[in-house]
Amino acid sequence: MSVRPNSAASRDIAYHLHPYTNARKNEDEGSLILDRGDGVYVVDEDGNRYLEAMAGLWCAGLGFSEQRLVDAATKQMSKLPYYHSFAQKTATPVVDLAEKVVQITPPQLTKVFFANSGSEANDTAVKMVWYYNNALGRPEKKKVISRVKGYHGVTIAAASLTAMPYVQTDFDVPIPNIIHTGCPHHYRFAEAGESEADFTDRLTRELEELILKEGPETVAAFIGEPLQGAGGVIVPPEGYWAKIQAVLKKYDVLLIADEVITGFGRTGSLFGCETFGLQPDMMTMAKQLSSAYMPISAVLVSDAIYQAIADNSAKLGSFGHGYTYSAHPVSAAVALETLKIYEERDIVAHVRAVAPRLQDGLRRFADHPLVGEVRGIGLIAAVELVADKASKAPFEPVGKVGAYFAGRAQAHGVIFRNLGDSIACCPPMIITEAEIDEVLDAFGKALEETAAWAAEQGLGKVA
Ligand code: PMP
Repeated sequence: MSVRPNSAASRDIAYHLHPYTNARKNEDEGSLILDRGDGVYVVDEDGNRYLEAMAGLWCAGLGFSEQRLVDAATKQMSKLPYYHSFAQKTATPVVDLAEKVVQITPPQLTKVFFANSGSEANDTAVKMVWYYNNALGRPEKKKVISRVKGYHGVTIAAASLTAMPYVQTDFDVPIPNIIHTGCPHHYRFAEAGESEADFTDRLTRELEELILKEGPETVAAFIGEPLQGAGGVIVPPEGYWAKIQAVLKKYDVLLIADEVITGFGRTGSLFGCETFGLQPDMMTMAKQLSSAYMPISAVLVSDAIYQAIADNSAKLGSFGHGYTYSAHPVSAAVALETLKIYEERDIVAHVRAVAPRLQDGLRRFADHPLVGEVRGIGLIAAVELVADKASKAPFEPVGKVGAYFAGRAQAHGVIFRNLGDSIACCPPMIITEAEIDEVLDAFGKALEETAAWAAEQGLGKVA
C-alpha cells in the first residue's frame, strides 16, 4: 500500500465510495486530493499545480477561481439561501435566469424547467415526452432512441439512454422503451472505402429502418448530443444532422438535444445546435450553465410541448414532477452571473480565437505512430491512441495505454482524461494561447513516454 498512513488519502479510502472509480485500485493507490483552484489550474494538498485540461468534467468553463461567482453565491446565500418552485412559488434569481435562458436558446424553445444534474435533466426530458404523448391521447408513442456511444447520465432513464456497457452492465438497465441506433463516428464505424457522405446516408437509412421496424406510432423521441462527448469527442460528419432531422420530422419524432457538454460556447457557438444545425424540440443543459460552481441543470421545451403539459397539469391538478432543489436560488444566482460573464467577455469569440491553437496543435501529433485519429472543434478535442495505425486496431485491453498516458501527463502537470484510449481535452474556456501551449507540451512528452512504455510492454501491433 503506497498511501501514507493518516494522510487525507488514507482517510478518504476509509470512508469514501467514489463515483466512476475502481474501488480496489483506489484502496491501493489512493486519490489525488485537490485543495484549491487558480484560473485554469488546480492545486493538490501538497501544493502541486495542474493545468486542468478537462475543466473538471467538461464543466468549469470559467476556471477554478472566478470571484464574481463566489460573490453571487454569497450574496444570494445571505439574502435567501433556499426556496423551491413548487405550487406557485419561486425565488427572484430564478425569474431572471428563466428569462435569460429562454432568450439565449433557439427561438422555438419557450419554457424552461430546472433540475440539478445532466442526468436529472435527461430523466426529466424522457418523463416529459411520455407525459406529453399521454396528454395528446397517444399512449403507445413512447420509445426514445439514443445512439451508440451517446452519454446522457446515470439515473435510471438516463443510464438507459447512455449506450455504453460501463454504465449499463450489472445495473439492470436499459428499461423498456429505450432503443439505440448507430454512432456517427466515421473513423471507427465506416465500412471499408465508405465516404463520409455514404456513411451518413447509411446511418440515416438505418434510423429510418429502425423507426419503421418499431412502428412510427410507437417512437416518440430521439436524443443526441450535437457532438458526442464522453463517447470519445465524436464530431459528426458534415450534413449528418440535417439528414437525421428529416427522418425524425417525417415520422413525428421529437428531437432532444443534449447540450450538457456542448452548451455555452464550447464548440465555438453558444450552443452545439448552432454549430451543427439542430432545431430541437427540447434541449437539456447543465455543467457550464453555472461554470459548475453550483449544481444546476435545465430542460427547455417547445411551446407545443409546454401547452400539452400545461393542459394535462390542469386536468390532473399538477405537473407531478420536480426536485426539492429544482431552481435552487443560490444555483440560479450563480448561473445568472455565469451567463453575464460569458456575455461581457464574449466567451464565444474567445473560444473561436484560441481554438485553432489547440486544434492545430493536437493535429501536429497526427503522424505519430501511436495516434489513430485527432478530432475536435472549438475547445473540445480527443486524440485516439491505437495499437496499429494502418489497421486502426485498438490496444488490448482497451484503456490501459490511455490510463498510462493520463498518468504521465499528470506527472507533467496537466490533467487530461482517457476515454478508453482516446485522450480527451476540454479545458476551461478562459484558457489562453500560452496555457494551451503548456497543454500541448505535456501532451507531447506524455505521448513519447507512452510510446516507449507500450513498446517495452510489448503492446501494439496486435492486429
Ligand atoms: N449528458 C451529457 C452529454 C454528459 O456529458 C453528461 C455528463 N458527463 C450528462 C448528460 C450527465 O450529467 P451529470 O453527470 O450531471 O448527471
